[in-house]
Amino acid sequence: MTKDWKTRTTLVHEGSRRSQYGEMAEAIFLTQGFVYPTAEAAEARFVKAGEDEFIYARYGNPTTRMFEERIAALEGTEDAFATASGMAAVSGALMAALRAGDHVVSSRALFGSCLYVLEEVLQRFGVRVTFVDGADLDAWRAAVTPGTKLVFFESMSNPTLELVDIRAVSEIAHAAGALVICDNVFATPIFSRAVEQGADVVVYSTTKHIDGQGRALGGVVCGTEAFIRKVLEPYMKHTGGSMSPFTAWMHLNGMATLDLRCRAMADTALAVARALEAHPKVSKVIFPGLPSHPQHALAMAQMGSGGTLVSFEVSGGKEAAFRFMNALEIAKISNNLGDAKTIATHPATTTHQRLPQDQKDALGITPGLIRLSLGLEDAGDLIADLEAALAVA
Ligand SMILES: *Cc1c(COP(=O)(O)O)cnc(C)c1O
Repeated sequence: MTKDWKTRTTLVHEGSRRSQYGEMAEAIFLTQGFVYPTAEAAEARFVKAGEDEFIYARYGNPTTRMFEERIAALEGTEDAFATASGMAAVSGALMAALRAGDHVVSSRALFGSCLYVLEEVLQRFGVRVTFVDGADLDAWRAAVTPGTKLVFFESMSNPTLELVDIRAVSEIAHAAGALVICDNVFATPIFSRAVEQGADVVVYSTTKHIDGQGRALGGVVCGTEAFIRKVLEPYMKHTGGSMSPFTAWMHLNGMATLDLRCRAMADTALAVARALEAHPKVSKVIFPGLPSHPQHALAMAQMGSGGTLVSFEVSGGKEAAFRFMNALEIAKISNNLGDAKTIATHPATTTHQRLPQDQKDALGITPGLIRLSLGLEDAGDLIADLEAALAVA
């Protein structure tokens, strides 16, 4: 199966299945069920379904399977399972791997819904969770014990773009026999080498860069065949979090340009971060691709890029941040990321609104903080738009 293809070839061709019509574009098999030629064939398929044999779309579908094979090849894992959303991927991977009494260590700076699953749902089922500062290796060493079953982190945190050292944390986890699950959304599957660096399981919200055009909600879990088929699949297929074939089909189209898009967005992010760093109304720029980022060296070693997001603080707090956002003409006010359209988010009043003030302070979510997800527009146009908005901030 594993071909010697480079990323861009994989993204265009891997996993393609053609019907008897020999269609060029990936077909969308918008079917929930499959017809068996005989009763004996149905019986045989329920005993063991072959590579190209499907039973029910909750278990698998030809279009969804194309997407799973393409992303597994990109990520460098044996297999993948596509889910209805990023949260179906995160919660599915955790629920499938854990049972009452298990101990989990997780980074604290998490996407709000991930925090809910770890803090509320898992604890309700008797799983103990210890939260640590993801950038502090001593904190990981102190928290991970020989009884720890699983380690979870987002490789780059939202919205303050702090990195977790995947290699170092995986070594700590593996020394204790723990499974490492990495939520890799901000790093993107293009810049990340999470599995190479030690993560056992990688999850994505495909809603972000993989769809890339703000259309579909989706997710995926990538890992060994043993994890995906023996641990995850039974849980996912019976609890109903599988991806729609229509979403998989959109993702297959999106993936053909994923490498080009992520690299263009990252180039723009670097240009924007440099322009913001030089601007008198900006008090702080957070971008792992700038030497001023405390983990710049780690970012370059881990991703070879600063990524596609830039966070920065406008002088003058919330009022100035709102004046800035309301003056933007190209960048849109929203909360998605990885979209072709540049998006500005004010985390303190939207994505992180519900966090108590002390936690906002601890995470660096200040009233003037703005998160930009850079899109595919012309970088010069974007910088002009940001500068014009800063002038009225
Ligand atoms: C968006 C996101 C999720 C959740 O994905 P959905 O597709 O919205 O369910 C999980 N983790 C991170 C880091 C995200 O950015």
